[in-house]
This record gives sequence, C-alpha cells and structure tokens, in this order.
Amino acid sequence: MDGIENNVKKLLEDIAGGNPFGENVTLVAAVKFQTVQDINRAVSAGITDIGDNHVQEFKEKYASITGNPRRHFIGHLQTNKVKYLIGKTDLYHSVDRFALAEEISKRSENAGIASDVLLQVNIGDEQSKGGFSYEEALKAYKVLLNMPSLNPKGLMAMLPFTDDTALLKKLAAKMRALFEKVKDTDGGAQFLSMGMSGDFRLCIDAGSNMIRLGTSIFGARNYN
Ligand SMILES: *Cc1c(COP(=O)(O)O)cnc(C)c1O
Repeated sequence: MDGIENNVKKLLEDIAGGNPFGENVTLVAAVKFQTVQDINRAVSAGITDIGDNHVQEFKEKYASITGNPRRHFIGHLQTNKVKYLIGKTDLYHSVDRFALAEEISKRSENAGIASDVLLQVNIGDEQSKGGFSYEEALKAYKVLLNMPSLNPKGLMAMLPFTDDTALLKKLAAKMRALFEKVKDTDGGAQFLSMGMSGDFRLCIDAGSNMIRLGTSIFGARNYN
C-alpha cells in the first residue's frame, strides 16, 4: 500500500471516536500543491472532503477530481475571485471580513443558491492571520446570519505556530466556548473547523469537529 492510502486509513481510524462532545470529526484533506493523481488517491482511500487554498489551483484541478468529494475553500480569498467558486464550493471556511461575506452573499443570490460559510476567528490575535477577533466574533456572526443567500455554519480558526502546548490548549478551549455561544444563537451552527497536521489531536480533544490536514496525508509539500 502506498503512503497516502496508509496515512488516510490511519487518520480515519484515529478520529473515528469523534470528539469529547460526542460529535463526529470530519477530515478535510488540504490539497494545496498536490497533484490530481495524489488527491484522487486520497479520495479513493476514504477522504470525503477536500479543501483548496488557491483559486487558480482549484480551477485547474476541479474537473479532474474523481469520487465526488465535498469541496471546501480554506484559504484566504480575494473578493474578485469569489465568482469562480460560486456553486462549486460546499463550505467556505475563511470568511474573515464583511466585504468577503457580502460578495459571497451577493454572488450566491444572483446564482439562485445559498452558500454555507464559516466565520474565521483570529484566536491568537496574530498580525499575519486574517479573521475577526475573539471579542467581535459573535456580533459579526449575527451580521452574517442576516445576509441573504448566506448560511453561516460555524467557526474556523488557525492556532498560532508554537510549541507552547499550554497556550494552544487554552486557545482551542476558548474557540470551543465561543462555538457554544454561537450555537446558542444559531441552531444551524454545526462546525468548528480547527486543527492542522501539527495540532489536530489537541484541537479534537478541545472540541473541534472538523480538521484540515495536508502534511499528515500527503507528506511534506513540494512548493515547486
Ligand atoms: C495548508 C493548510 C492546512 C493544512 O496544513 P498541514 O500543516 O499541512 O496539515 C490547513 N488549513 C489551512 C487553512 C491551510 O492553508
């Protein structure tokens, strides 16, 4: 068996028990820089959801992906590129500002569809990352709820790159607490998308129910 198949099988077994809140955990394969062949391998090995970062890559590979996985967009998204994703994306994870939410809402309305989105929270208050602050997130979520043709489905966060496990656990727990508040406001909120290859176990233990993994499925990325 090749590496990708083994990795997928092990990861799916690893998350099969769900999170401590009794929720299933969805594994989204982060496919940036991966070949169509490797993505299709991962899907045949059991991956049900794939997530892109770059619109150009998404467009180039879109029609060549087999097995009909659900499509996620997980990367920073420029408003002028939303039009290429409308109707082809099952869940937008990275809604990090109102202008983007408005553009997805407007384009969805024009297309006669509704789009599912997550609100991105900059939980580590990092300059390098997008997203609403922890303090403004709940209020912002309510704004999104009132936009036409937009279905907010929960929250997304990226934890800081640090090996300070205590800090990571604290931030992950804060995200879960915020997700509980969101669920009190919005019965439709289902997903807390949090966890990458380096921190997904910690995130699941804190209550994440959707993780986005690249390296642990495909190995180290080749950026060429
Ligand atoms: C690349 C990426 C991931 C996956 O990262 P790995 O560390 O390779 O698992 C997850 N989320 C986002 C937003 C990404 O850009």
